[in-house]
Amino acid sequence: MNDKIKESILCEIKKFDTIIISRHQRPDGDAVGSSLGLAKMLKASFPRKRIFVDNEDYSEYVAFLGSEGEHPTDVDYINALAIVVDTGNMQRISNKRVTLAKKLVKIDHHIDDNPYGDISWVEDERSSTCEMIVDFYMTFHDELVLDKDSATCLYAGMVTDSGRFRFRGTDSNTMLCASELLKRDIDTETLFANLYIDDYDNMIFRAKMAARIKITENGVAWLHVSRALRKRRGLSLEEASNIVSIMDSIKGSLIWIAFIENDDGSTRVRLRSRFVEVQELATHYHGGGHACASGATVYSKEEEAALLCDADKILKKYKSENDGWI
Ligand code: AMP
Repeated sequence: MNDKIKESILCEIKKFDTIIISRHQRPDGDAVGSSLGLAKMLKASFPRKRIFVDNEDYSEYVAFLGSEGEHPTDVDYINALAIVVDTGNMQRISNKRVTLAKKLVKIDHHIDDNPYGDISWVEDERSSTCEMIVDFYMTFHDELVLDKDSATCLYAGMVTDSGRFRFRGTDSNTMLCASELLKRDIDTETLFANLYIDDYDNMIFRAKMAARIKITENGVAWLHVSRALRKRRGLSLEEASNIVSIMDSIKGSLIWIAFIENDDGSTRVRLRSRFVEVQELATHYHGGGHACASGATVYSKEEEAALLCDADKILKKYKSENDGWI
C-alpha cells in the first residue's frame, strides 16, 4: 500500500516545476534534516526544477547543516507542490503559506491523529522522517540522486530522532537506511561533534539543574525551568529545553518531564519515557508526538500539577501491571 503512495508522491514531484518543502515549528534534527535532505536530493535529481525550503523559524542547534537559501514568493506558491515533512498536524507547520500551494503532500512518522494533505504518507513505526526519505530514495534509486550533502542532513536527523539508534522504532530498516547513507562517506566525527559537544557554561547549568530534579511518589522525574531562571542564565528557549535529557537514565523513573516557561506565560512540556507510553497524556494537554517522546503545553501552575499527577498515575498503573522495568 505504501509503495503506491510513494509512487504517487514521485509522480507529483515529476509533474511540478516548483516544489516547496516545510517542516514543524521549533524544529529538531529530524525536521531540519528531512527538509534540507529532501531538498538537496530533489535538487540533485531534478536540476531544472525550482526547489525551495520555506519555514518561519530556525534552530541554532542544527544550523550547521546549512541554511534554507532563497525563499519563494506568494506567486511561486500558485503552481507549486508543497511537501510537509515530520509534522503531525496542520497547526504545527512552520509555514502559513503552504495552503497557497496547488497540491500538498504530508510525509511523517508521528501518530496520525490529524490527517492532512492531498497525499499523505505516514509510517508511525519509523524511527524518523529522515529514515522515510532514505527509504523513498532506496525505492526509486534509479531515478533519484542522493549526494553526500543530502546524506549528511538525513543522517543527522536519523541519529537525533532515534537517540543515536537507541529508541523504540530503531529496527533493521533503520540500519539499512543508515548504511545507505554511510556509503556516501559522511564525516560522522564532525557531525557527532556538532550535535553533542556542549560548552562549559552549559555543562555547569546542567549539573546544577541535576540537583533540582524532583521525583513524584511513583517515580516520575521532573524539572521546571522558570522564565526568570532562563533569563538569568541567558539561555534561549531551545537551550533550556534540552534539559529534559539529563533525566533519561534514572532507575525507576520511567517517565521524565521538563517544564520550560515560554515568554508568553504558557509552559512548554517535554515528555519522555521508556516502556510506558506518554503520547495520550501529551494529547490531553494540547500536544502529541510519539509513544515515548511527546510534547505538550500547559497554561497555568494548576494545569502543570494536574499533568504531573496524571503522569504519576500512569506510572503507578504501569508498574503495578508489569515486571521487568528498570
Ligand atoms: P519535543 O519535546 O518538543 O521534542 O517533542 C517530542 C515529539 O513530540 C516530537 O516528535 C514533536 O514533533 C512532537 N510534538 C511536540 N509538541 C507537539 C504538539 N503540540 N503536537 C503534536 N506533536 C508534538
